[in-house]
Amino acid sequence: MYDYDLLVVGSANADLVIGVERRPGAGETVLGSDLAVHPGGKGANQAVAAARLGARTALLARVGDDGNGRLLLDSQRAAGVDTAGVLVGGAPTGVALITVDPSGDNSIVVSPGANGRLTPEDVRAADPLLGRSRVVSAQLEIPLETVVEVVRRLPEGTRFVLNPSPPRELPEEVLAACDPLIVNEHEARVIAGGELAGSPEDWARALLALGPRSVVVTLGAEGALIATAEGTIRVPAVRVEAVDTTGAGDAFTAALAWKLGCGEEPAEAAAYAARVGAVAVTRAGAQVSFPTADEVAALGG
Ligand code: ATP
Repeated sequence: MYDYDLLVVGSANADLVIGVERRPGAGETVLGSDLAVHPGGKGANQAVAAARLGARTALLARVGDDGNGRLLLDSQRAAGVDTAGVLVGGAPTGVALITVDPSGDNSIVVSPGANGRLTPEDVRAADPLLGRSRVVSAQLEIPLETVVEVVRRLPEGTRFVLNPSPPRELPEEVLAACDPLIVNEHEARVIAGGELAGSPEDWARALLALGPRSVVVTLGAEGALIATAEGTIRVPAVRVEAVDTTGAGDAFTAALAWKLGCGEEPAEAAAYAARVGAVAVTRAGAQVSFPTADEVAALGG
């Protein structure tokens, strides 16, 4: 009945990375390494992660009519994502300008560009896409009113998954639609209005009281936990040698959204997502680190 297991509504950025001996201070110029350009943005990352696992995936996003936009479209298509919903033009493609020093500390400036021009009207025009998707996932690197419009137009029976990153307080109608709301500690704190007391189970219960049907808290190398009205369940992380955690949250979210849409029990779906996140942290980079289903199975899945 559905053409897509997952529709991701979100951002697409080009990550422009330069290695430096020392990050520059105000008014200072430093020389750095050759420029590396990687496809990124939470929306684009989630779509690639899901498609690489074998989910039938589509992306609703906006990129500029420029080289970075073409890079993003190419990386989506190479992973098998349907890009018919990717709109082109209106502003330059979003970019993240990243300088990294030898200790791995970075400074990042983000220009949302075309991501900021993905409008509620674009969502209305994408109604057929929403109607053909079993699960819709979003993040907050696009305008909040666009995410609100997604929630308002969700067809009956379509699951909505939100990773509220970068975090901000959310309207009730968005919170009420989440199944689950997926947060790390920082996001949990902001969504909860700044206060977060007790254990991760307490945080999850506090968030659940704000209206989501379920909450997942990701805890890095400590794994994750799921909270529903029935209670909370811990999902242990898979022990691996972490090399680079960039994008682990996006890979986890995509895998969880897909598996829940397939009808798996939350604990089972989250255990699978934890394996996907674990493989992603064993490799450098974001999208290039995301595993295929075979690679997840090789880890014991
Ligand atoms: P991001 O940095 O991408 O925003 P996040 O903070 O949203 O990440 P994390 O909690 O870091 O998300 O990672 C998501 C999931 O990936 C975790 O719940 C866990 O299952 C897995 N994971 C992350 N780091 C590790 C690790 N060092 N070892 C094993 N699994 C990990």
